[in-house]
Amino acid sequence: LTVNQDLRCHRSEQTEPADIRFSAMSVKWEDVLKDENLIKNIEELAKDSALLHGVLMRTKETPNSPEVVSYAPFTLFPTPVPTALFQQALAVQTHFNRLVDRVSQNPGFLEETLASTIKVDNFTARLFNIYKQVQHEHHPQSIVLGLNRSDYMLDHSPDGGTSLKQIEINTIAASFGGLASRTPDVHRHILKVANLPQECSNVLDNNPAAGLARGLAKAWELYGSERAVVMFLVENVQRNIYDHRYVENELWKRNIPVIRRQFEDVCRTGSLDESKRLFVDGREVAIVYFRNGYMPQNYTSEKSWEARLMMERSLAVKCPDISTHLAGTKKVQQELARPGVLERFFPDEPQTVAQIRATFAGLYTLDMGEEGDKTVAMALANPDQYVLKPQREGGGNNIYGNEICEVLENLKNSTERMAYILMDKIQPVPVQNYLLRPGAPLRLNSCLSELGAFGAYVRKGKDMVFNECVGHLLRTKSSEHADGGVAAGVAVLDNPLLV
Ligand code: ADP
Ligand code: MG
Ligand code: MG
Repeated sequence: LTVNQDLRCHRSEQTEPADIRFSAMSVKWEDVLKDENLIKNIEELAKDSALLHGVLMRTKETPNSPEVVSYAPFTLFPTPVPTALFQQALAVQTHFNRLVDRVSQNPGFLEETLASTIKVDNFTARLFNIYKQVQHEHHPQSIVLGLNRSDYMLDHSPDGGTSLKQIEINTIAASFGGLASRTPDVHRHILKVANLPQECSNVLDNNPAAGLARGLAKAWELYGSERAVVMFLVENVQRNIYDHRYVENELWKRNIPVIRRQFEDVCRTGSLDESKRLFVDGREVAIVYFRNGYMPQNYTSEKSWEARLMMERSLAVKCPDISTHLAGTKKVQQELARPGVLERFFPDEPQTVAQIRATFAGLYTLDMGEEGDKTVAMALANPDQYVLKPQREGGGNNIYGNEICEVLENLKNSTERMAYILMDKIQPVPVQNYLLRPGAPLRLNSCLSELGAFGAYVRKGKDMVFNECVGHLLRTKSSEHADGGVAAGVAVLDNPLLV
């Protein structure tokens, strides 16, 4: 079937015949969104397309079985994103890679920056503790592999301008590089069926899975043992396994063996030999790729912490190592936004500094002292202008609006406030779209999107041997929700439609 025949097939079941509005490019976006018949027709087709293209997730009920799977939640249509801002996010990514790496290599900076946080935040303190322990040991491994994702929203200022503002950078377990490699085909198919063929070329190809795997492969080669495996350290609830599988399969294609293990497996069977080589289930591990370990609840017992320490001490390449994990904390992000700090990391590169800084939103310390007091007063006076953030990952942890007042009224004179940072709230323009979620009725939503750029780098000793932006991700959520990612059940997968 050609695309148009396909459209007619679907539409012929309807009482209303195909509307002539769809016969040409004169069609208006809003008209498409409001055409209930068309939307109803393409809903099923869109879900089938996602399944056919492998945009998959396991179900909530059976997260550890491949017997029943569904499509991963996604938007019916791609979301318009200005080309220049999209390009800006991709272009700055290799600089962010270097920044994260340099921060991770600067013990004085990490120590000073996190000193207040670790007094009151137990999870960060435990990570920091591991960092301190390994810092004083001889480092067996000089290969560093970073796979991260820098996330942005498009801030709409009152004067009408739009700018790219960083929400955060994820240096551990940055997800959806796999599924994002498959969603462009789905959206292009939907656009064709909706008779918007011209728009198809504005949805770019995207293959972060291949790029992340290139980084992993490079580090594996440098490790230099053909038998050694890449170990994906995964959760015990594996709903998002297909996202991992795309990266995994890229490695198998290169004959790089992959195993998937949990903290528990490492606790039970993991060991270091006399040269600190890591063995799990009898296999030598070249790379530990953490897709878990970023939330307190991932460490179900003291044994998990011991396993993290053992992996950290080992000769295996850690993605990320503990210092790179800490470089991704929100406290570090806030400190980097302070005047003069980026210059310390790029003393001879004013342009790099400018490019990175242009993406920073206002970030404010809540440390004890005058500056922190000022932050509290500012937040209490205008809570809707800000987001209060603890040192947590995975979505759903931030505090907004009146709740900021409740929390800060309680904590304002207590050191507990140092567990948080305050950030300007980014104000994107809402865009109408439909969110497709298994089991949920279709509804036109006012939506906000977050653009991510995937970064991959490999350093050996002092040499950056690989440094790339390897793709992008657009996630969209209903504007009713202040917070939450795809895994948290709030956002859905999307694609930028470059305009
Ligand atoms: P996490 O590490 O949990 O993903 P984020 O900093 O990404 O933490 O915050 C989670 C979500 O909260 C983001 O995906 C975004 O939707 C929203 N959010 C975070 N910071 C801001 C901000 N400064 N302005 C507007 N929304 C924000
Ligand atoms: Mg995060
Ligand atoms: Mg986030």
